[in-house]
Amino acid sequence: MKEIVCKLLVIGAGPGGYICAIRAGQLGIDTVIVEAVKAGGTCLNIGCIPSKALIHAAEEFEKVSHMAAAKSPLGISVETPKLDLAKTIAWKDGIVGRLNSGVLGLLRKARVKIVHGRAKFRDGKTVEVETETGTQVIRAETIVIATGSEPVELPFLPFGGPVISSTEALSLKTVPQKLVVVGGGYIGLELGTAFAKLGSKVTVVEATSQILPQYDAELVKPVAKRLADLGIRVLTGAKAKGLSGNTLLIETAEGAEEQLAADKILVTVGRKPRTEGWGLDELDLDRAGKFLRIDDRCRTSMRGVHAIGDITGEPMLAHRAMAQGEMVAEIVAGKKRTWDKRCIPAVCFTDPEIVTAGLSPDEARAQGYEIRVGQFPFSANGRAMTMLSEDGFVRIVARADSNLVLGIQAVGSGVSELSSAFALAIEMGARLEDIAATIHAHPTRSEGFQEAALKALGHALHI
Ligand code: FAD
Ligand code: NAD
Repeated sequence: MKEIVCKLLVIGAGPGGYICAIRAGQLGIDTVIVEAVKAGGTCLNIGCIPSKALIHAAEEFEKVSHMAAAKSPLGISVETPKLDLAKTIAWKDGIVGRLNSGVLGLLRKARVKIVHGRAKFRDGKTVEVETETGTQVIRAETIVIATGSEPVELPFLPFGGPVISSTEALSLKTVPQKLVVVGGGYIGLELGTAFAKLGSKVTVVEATSQILPQYDAELVKPVAKRLADLGIRVLTGAKAKGLSGNTLLIETAEGAEEQLAADKILVTVGRKPRTEGWGLDELDLDRAGKFLRIDDRCRTSMRGVHAIGDITGEPMLAHRAMAQGEMVAEIVAGKKRTWDKRCIPAVCFTDPEIVTAGLSPDEARAQGYEIRVGQFPFSANGRAMTMLSEDGFVRIVARADSNLVLGIQAVGSGVSELSSAFALAIEMGARLEDIAATIHAHPTRSEGFQEAALKALGHALHI
C-alpha cells in the first residue's frame, strides 16, 4: 500500500476544493487534492458552465427563429434556422474540456499533487483512495472536505428512462418534443426556458404557489411573463404524484388529477449534500440539518477537519464555495481570517435574469430596519430600449437613518453583469449618496443602478 504524508489534503476538486488547493499551493503549503470524477466538480462539468453554454445557444436559436418568423422590428429577416443539438452539445463539451485542462494546469502550477480516485476516511488524519493502480493512503495534518452535492431524487420518480436530472439534460442529443419539468427553481427554470427556446413544448410543475419561491413576487413577475410568451405552461401549487410509462401524474392546485405526457421528465427539486461514500460514519461530524456544521472559519466539529462548499449548506453556489476555499487555505497557512462577507450575490440565469445581493425589502424589515427603497424601471433606460429588452428594474434597499445600502436586486436582460457592482457597493459599505455620486457610463443598463439610488434619495433624474 502506497502512502503520502502532506500538510493539507483536499477531498473533492470542485470550485471549493480546487481553489483551496491552488491558494494553499501558492502559499507554499504541501498540498494533495483527491478527485473521484473530474477536476472542476459539478460546476464546471455538469452545472454552471454547461448550463450557461446551453442557455446561450438556445438564446441565439430563438433570436434567429424569431427573425425567421418575420417578427423582428429591426428590419432583419432570415430563412428558417435549423438546430443540430448533438453539435451544440459537442461545442459545450469543448468548453468544459478546455476549462477542465485549465484547472488541472493551475493545480500543477501551484505544485499541488493530484490523486485520481474516491477518498474514504480511516480516521480524522488519514484517508484511503482507491486509484487505478491500487490503494493510496494519505496522511495529512489538515483535511478539507469539499465533496459537494448531488440532485435530490423523488422516491416515486427515480432517475432512469424518461426521468432525468440536470446532468442528463445537459447532454441530450435531440430536443425532446414534450418536456415536463418538476420543480420551478433555479435549474428547472434555467433549463426549461432553454429547451422551450430550442423547440420543446415545456410544462413546469412547481409545488409552491410561486415559481422561484426564494425571490419576491415583484422580481419574478417579468420571468413569469416571459415563460408565458415562450408558451411554457406553468402549474404552481401542483404536486407530482407518480409515473405511468412516459406520463407524469400530478395533482393540481385545485386538487384535480392530471396526466402529463412527456418525452423527458426533468426532476429539479433541489440538491443534497454528498455526505455518503467518504466515511462520515468514521468521523461522526456535527450536522446542521443535512449539511456539515461549520463555524466562521469553516472548521467542523473535529480538530483539523474543515468543510467548504455545497456540503456546508445554502446558498449552494460556486462563488461561495470558492471564497470559502480561498479563506481556508489562508487559515491553514497561519493567516488570521474569518468569514466576514457582507453578502453573497446570486444570479438566476432565466430570461430575463435575476440578481440579488444583500437584503430584500421584506428581509430588511423582518430584521427590524426602517428602510427606504428606490426602484428604477428599464423601460426608462435608453440602452434597454436599443436592445429591445425593457422589462425589469433595479431596486435598492437602504437604512432610512443612514442611507447605508442593505440590499440591491435587479431583474432584466443581461443584469447578471451588474452583480459585481452590487456586491462591491455592499462590501464597501456604500451609502445611497456614494452610488448616486458615481458617474455611470452612458448608455448602459448600469445607469439604472445610479437612478435607483437617486430615486431612494428622492430626486431621480430620468423618471
Ligand atoms: P462540487 O462542485 O459538487 O464538487 C465536489 C467534487 O468532489 C466533485 O468533483 C466530486 O466528484 C468530488 N468528490 C465527492 N466525493 C468524493 C470523494 N469521496 N473522493 C474524491 N472526490 C470526491 N452555481 C453558481 O454559482 N452559478 C451557477 O450558474 C450555477 N449553475 C448550476 C447549474 C446546475 C445544473 C447545477 C447542478 C448547479 C449549478 N450551480 C451554480 C451550483 C454549483 O455547481 C455548486 O454550488 C458548486 O459546484 C459547489 O462546489 P463544491 O466545490 O462545493 O462541490
Ligand atoms: P431549487 O431549490 O432552486 O428549486 C427547487 C424547486 O423545486 C423549488 O421551487 C421547490 O419548491 C420545488 N419542489 C420541491 N419539491 C417538489 C415537488 N415534489 N414537486 C414540485 N416541485 C417541487 O433547486 P434546483 O433548481 O434543483 O437547484 C439546486 C441548487 O443548485 C440551487 O439551490 C442553487 O443553489 C444551485 N443552482 C444555482 C444556479 C445559479 O446560481 N444560477 C443555477 C442552478 C442551480
